[in-house]
Amino acid sequence: MNAIVNISRLLKSKLARTGLSSFKGGVHPPQHKLESTTSPIRSVTLPKHLVLPLRQHVGNVSKLQVAAGDHVLKGQLLAKADGQVSAAVHAPTSGVIASIGNQLIPHPSGLPDISITLEADGRDQWIEHQALDYLSMSKPELLDHLREAGVVGLGGATFPSHIKLREDARHPVRTLIINGAECEPYISCDDMLMRERADEIVRGIEIMRYLLDAEVCAIGIEDNKPEAIQAMREAVAKSAIAIDVIAVPTIYPGGGAKQLIKVITGKEVPSGRLPTEIGVQCFNVATAYSVHRVVNHGEPVISRIVTVTGNVARPGNYEALLGMSISELVQLAGGRAEDGDLVMGGPMMGFNLPSAAVPVVKATNCIIVPSAEMFPQPEPALPCIRCTRCADVCPVNLQPQELYWFSKSQNLEKASEYNIFDCIECGCCTYVCPSNIPLVQYYRYAKSEIIAQDRAKEAADIARERNEFRLMRIEREKQERAQKHAQKAAGAKAEAGGDSAAEAAKKAAIAAAVERAKAQKAEVVAKNTEEVSPRVEAEIAKIEARRAQKPELSGQPEQTELFAEKQEPAVTSAVEQMDGTQLLSKEKQPTEEAK
Ligand code: SF4
Ligand code: SF4
Repeated sequence: MNAIVNISRLLKSKLARTGLSSFKGGVHPPQHKLESTTSPIRSVTLPKHLVLPLRQHVGNVSKLQVAAGDHVLKGQLLAKADGQVSAAVHAPTSGVIASIGNQLIPHPSGLPDISITLEADGRDQWIEHQALDYLSMSKPELLDHLREAGVVGLGGATFPSHIKLREDARHPVRTLIINGAECEPYISCDDMLMRERADEIVRGIEIMRYLLDAEVCAIGIEDNKPEAIQAMREAVAKSAIAIDVIAVPTIYPGGGAKQLIKVITGKEVPSGRLPTEIGVQCFNVATAYSVHRVVNHGEPVISRIVTVTGNVARPGNYEALLGMSISELVQLAGGRAEDGDLVMGGPMMGFNLPSAAVPVVKATNCIIVPSAEMFPQPEPALPCIRCTRCADVCPVNLQPQELYWFSKSQNLEKASEYNIFDCIECGCCTYVCPSNIPLVQYYRYAKSEIIAQDRAKEAADIARERNEFRLMRIEREKQERAQKHAQKAAGAKAEAGGDSAAEAAKKAAIAAAVERAKAQKAEVVAKNTEEVSPRVEAEIAKIEARRAQKPELSGQPEQTELFAEKQEPAVTSAVEQMDGTQLLSKEKQPTEEAK
């Protein structure tokens, strides 16, 4: 229901602006596009083996889902996206996984990377797949399908498209721009795609517009591609939604996202910011086409159109399976891969391949087989004469000559201060420099050094923080241990204090008992001599008399006295030896008996 409402609203929307803006700078190098646009897109014979790097996109390397020896079908998932900023890799044909390991890949670093080698079985048998009814799906579900199908920006940036197609409440996208400018010389894959598959591109644009809920949509195409402009205008006329096809002036680098946005909308994307921050999102025409294949055919990204041009007998555009060898592609175009260092991309922003055996990847838009006439050896660099021509052509308002000095003198802080990271490496400055200074190479070097230094600093900061945390933990544990010991000691002391108190109480009780015993004894003695009854007195008198009669006994104690005398120290001694409990129980007995 929402989709229907959106579409009816979009039918009424049109790009509000009339007239185009321009961006500062730019150059007009020879186009060399005609050579590769005289014949339709060609298909290629099924390669015998394909090499599929797991890193063909910006972001995390994808996660392997197969092992050597597995048989796979065309379109089967070989490696899935790892996290959000990642993209999946699929089998471009059916066959057996021959090996998984490091292989040379087409990258300026010239370094190998983890790749899957697939031996084709020749049957080219598809896995079961079907179109999606995307209007009945939730947008997150549809975005997940695009992520799982490996859709990335095919203009060369290879950023995962599902991220750019997410709605962001903070930065709603009002304008969707489809980039068909293709400004770099020699490259014509987008031009041919628009000429031949305009309807499919428009189907993809409709899906993108639905996802972003954009109010306005425009396709920008350089005016040196009249056939493509015509084909796209015819295709959008059949669409249920309003899409403007805008012919933009041919000037390099007019196909840069920020430059095209400026030309079409008149808005400038500020330095260091994203187009979404001014309400605009931009995609390449080939990306729109792959969105259509995924959604309306259920096919993941397993091929792309590649321009093969330069020193070849049959320059043109080829629908190449991802993973096929670039040397094989060059041979199909009637060229010899060994004739020179192949260039991937255009002459302005491309780079030399480390080997002709590297595979076609999602970023491979063009292969140029160079010749000495096409790309003569550059003249030796001369000192900078401060002519400022480089600054005049810089499309992002930089001071290339200053950046050159800072890069050359390793003054990286200053280079950063002068916004070296705004440089899009378009090469306009190098192109016009009368001193033949390879300026872009200096900027690339400075950028990589700054990134390396930042990473080293970041690593050092992390290590320092980790060490500080470790020291804090050790100190904390030390304090905790000391606290525990102190608590234990205090407990022991309290216990010891309690013991001595108890002991003192016990001693006091004993002393008191001794005193009481002495008092009792004194009482007993007194009772023997005082307040005796007349009968006892008489008895005493008798005893005294007997004593007088038996002088041998006089001076010796009488038995009772003797007993009393003997008993007294014994009791005292026993009492003194008793503990408090015994004493108290002894004391208690007579009391109870008395009761
Ligand atoms: S164009 Fe070359 S010579 Fe002129 S200022 Fe720039 S770097 Fe120096
Ligand atoms: S390469 Fe960088 S500095 Fe040179 S013109 Fe392009 S954007 Fe400006």
